[in-house]
Amino acid sequence: MKLTRRDFLKVCGGTATGTALLGMLGPESFLEAAPIDIPLRKKIGEKTTICCYCGVGCGAIMAVESGKITNIEGDPDHPINRGSLCPKGEALYEVANSERRLKSVLYRSPGATSWDEKPWDWAIEQIARRIKDTRDSNWISQDKDGKVVNRVEAIASVGSVFTNSEEAYLMTKLQRSLGLVYIESAARICVSSAVAANTETFGRGPMSNSWIDLRNSDCVMVVGCNAAATFPVAFKWIIKAMEKGAKLIHVDPRFTRTSAKADIYARLRTGTDVAFVGGIINYVLDDMEQRPENYNTEYVREYTNASFLINQDFKFEDGIFSGYDSSSRSYDKSSWQYQLDENGNPKMDKSLRDPHCVFQLLKKHFSRYDAETVCKITGTPKEDYLEACRTFAATGAAGKAGAIVLSSGACQHTQGTQNVRAYGILQLLLGNMGVAGGGINGIAGASNGLGCSVQGRLFHWLPGTLSSPTADQQSLEEYVKADGNEAYIVSLLKSWYGDNATAANDYGFNWLPKGSGNYSFVPLFAAIHSGTIKGLICWGMNPAVSGPNSNYIREALAKLDWMIVIDLWETETASFWKRPGVDSASIDTEVFLLPAASSLEKEGSVSNSSRWVQWRYKGIEPPGEAKDDLWITNRLMLKLKQLYETEGGPNTDVINGLTWKYGDPPDVHSVAKEINGYDLETGQLLSDLTKLKADGTTTSGNWIFCGSYTEEGSMAALRDPSPGPFNIGLFPKWAWAWPLNRRIWYNRASVDVEGKPWDLNRPVIEWDSLIEGWMGDTPDGGWPPISISGKYPFIMKPQGRAHLFGPGRLDGPLPEHYEPWESPVMNPMTSQQSDPVLKLWNWDKRGTPDKYPILATTFRLVEHLHTGSFTRNLPWLVELMPEMFIEISEELANERGIANGGRVIVESARGEVTAVAMVTKRLRPFSINGQEKIHQIAIPWNWGYMGASKGDSGNLLTSCVADANTGIPELRAFLCNVRRV
Ligand code: SF4
Repeated sequence: MKLTRRDFLKVCGGTATGTALLGMLGPESFLEAAPIDIPLRKKIGEKTTICCYCGVGCGAIMAVESGKITNIEGDPDHPINRGSLCPKGEALYEVANSERRLKSVLYRSPGATSWDEKPWDWAIEQIARRIKDTRDSNWISQDKDGKVVNRVEAIASVGSVFTNSEEAYLMTKLQRSLGLVYIESAARICVSSAVAANTETFGRGPMSNSWIDLRNSDCVMVVGCNAAATFPVAFKWIIKAMEKGAKLIHVDPRFTRTSAKADIYARLRTGTDVAFVGGIINYVLDDMEQRPENYNTEYVREYTNASFLINQDFKFEDGIFSGYDSSSRSYDKSSWQYQLDENGNPKMDKSLRDPHCVFQLLKKHFSRYDAETVCKITGTPKEDYLEACRTFAATGAAGKAGAIVLSSGACQHTQGTQNVRAYGILQLLLGNMGVAGGGINGIAGASNGLGCSVQGRLFHWLPGTLSSPTADQQSLEEYVKADGNEAYIVSLLKSWYGDNATAANDYGFNWLPKGSGNYSFVPLFAAIHSGTIKGLICWGMNPAVSGPNSNYIREALAKLDWMIVIDLWETETASFWKRPGVDSASIDTEVFLLPAASSLEKEGSVSNSSRWVQWRYKGIEPPGEAKDDLWITNRLMLKLKQLYETEGGPNTDVINGLTWKYGDPPDVHSVAKEINGYDLETGQLLSDLTKLKADGTTTSGNWIFCGSYTEEGSMAALRDPSPGPFNIGLFPKWAWAWPLNRRIWYNRASVDVEGKPWDLNRPVIEWDSLIEGWMGDTPDGGWPPISISGKYPFIMKPQGRAHLFGPGRLDGPLPEHYEPWESPVMNPMTSQQSDPVLKLWNWDKRGTPDKYPILATTFRLVEHLHTGSFTRNLPWLVELMPEMFIEISEELANERGIANGGRVIVESARGEVTAVAMVTKRLRPFSINGQEKIHQIAIPWNWGYMGASKGDSGNLLTSCVADANTGIPELRAFLCNVRRV
């Protein structure tokens, strides 16, 4: 008799016990022991789902009896989690059965002190009326220069990162057709800087490898992320690698559960990642010169821009790169560009000796980051730091692989983009990109943060990360010339405007709203404060808790004429008008609170951090009158179309001409098929993105999803558990990865110029000269090896080479250490204290060390998700983590007379929070640049004034100051003071 994992769980008599035993036995023991082909037991109506919380994307099974979910357990067949779930996943059952869920439409009239219940028809009618009136009376058809812009700035949208991708797509289609430009989500303030960095370095933003692939690593460096606690199922794959001898390095300001598991714990002062990693880069460059045999120098020479010559005017002096204009606080990047030959191609020196080549510039720049200097800045004990250098540098040999895992702790800094750029440079020097067990692996904190973002839920992206048009692009030709792919944008326009999009009218390009500035998260709330934005639509987002300087955000909401909140719970944002300390009657904002369905009550797909698109099924009906976001979006658009057909208004043709036939209630499969796209000549669904055309004969709502839903059905629903080629855990027939079902990006860098893998034990792809084709994963670029095709592996970069030197970012081509905007020390590197081009807003008060001498960082917990709007309503999780607290060192507690468990007030220049003090050895004071004692505390941000567990959000203390490239705020480093209550 064969015993499957699922049988085993049954024998063990309970999910928790079985899961625990499986954990002890190791995640793969049973998969390897027996094939898994167990049909789900129909009699109790089991259906599969994907966990609604984080970006790991664990599978779960819902048991449904008489329309109720009676149990949820980890899906034992799922390759990522193999039956286990973390505490949040285990508590999914409570989401379906919570009495605290919203069950009817609630309305708050101006000045009211309580909610009124309302019917859906009334709400949709009223909301459509508010949107139409606000849009029509604030319509901007041309800008001040007479350019067609067709936009409205008086309505904004924030969220979401938890809805299904089909819902996110439809929200984007609705909002862009109305002319909205202020469209943002939590992704902006979470990990947007990693996307900007990776796009500059490699050509694409998200995670390059996958969770399961971490098991192939020889060394994993986890930076600014407590993966063992916050993403425990992903962490299991690191443990799997460690069981085979891999090393784990944890770099973090706090000693956490991840540190406890690590071989090397390198603690660093928050906000000093560039110095830490810059030092490792320096170590590697030195070592490479002395012992080139220990490194894959061919990889560096051939696959990066190491040999490219930079303009001779390029300079770096005392913390400033050439081209800086102090009056505008910006760089002219012309001196950062390549020297060109007579044909316009970059000049190269393959010997890497020319003083202007990237490799030499890199050496010169990072030679300043010697071990002494680095540890003086970061506060890391020197022996720990050097051990981390030696250990990670050992992955540089051909045939070795090292992975970097990061999360928002690395990203939420004024240096966020350059932090992740530094990790990227290190990975390129070590030949760790494209190979199994390598990569830069950014964890998305939300289950569909990635999927929603690439459906255009950020102001600067249309679906497929195509750039949002700007006022300078008055024709399709100008747009395509700037940065668009014609086949992709034309196919998108054909999806949206159907027969109304023709070659004669540029496929309706000018119907898209065109922006003239920065519409990101912080400017969005500034525009609410200033009165530009009058109406806000908030899809499952809770900015009153997650936003930087949350008091500022909460005050902004009172300036709106109207706000629509779509959520499962009564959030702090929805109820900002009745928060403690405010007079509700004095707030005139009209609020519509619409009850939404949870992921267990609807069908659709989500993309996890590894870009796997996974289908989840509807288990039960939503509670009461709650509706899914697809239904809400559809009803709203149908009502708006009706209003515009009868009443007209600016740009009415766009709204009337927009394709919108999904049925009522809408069919999610028809939306998924539209996203995939059709061949208009045959009427067939397209099989992949290579079929897309610029002549108007194909449609595709999102080119990177082309191939996700073909004539064979939804590829996201595939559940073949075979591990796939070379047994490295690609699982190519489980779900579908965008684009083209490619599981490891840049995989043509895993082979030499002849197509032979650097690592014969863990190949990702290999050129087979007999069949003249690639074996293994979907190759990143289908051409033959470089020796035949001349095509280099980083296909999204102009010359196919990854960027060690990155001339495209706003704050410099190479990472440089600057202090956080609020810092207790002077910058030991240069006289430039903080990033010279960081984004400042005039309302942000800056704390100084004389008044606020303590450094603070924020962090998240395994028991609570983000703002806690979900998890603080679930009793199991509230019991596990009941109260707002701060972590504080024993030394600081002694100095301030603070007892463990006592109450403290933490104050910054922007606000204060009250919390329980957890006095712990996890934090210790730093000695920085001769200053003996710099205290640092750590603060979670998961609490607010609603929910079953109430408390202050750490974001009452944080500031809006932000990274120059993305506008991600510096939520992880600021100054404060602490006192006993
Ligand atoms: Fe898995 Fe993340 Fe859900 Fe936990 S929260 S079960 S790690 S997907």
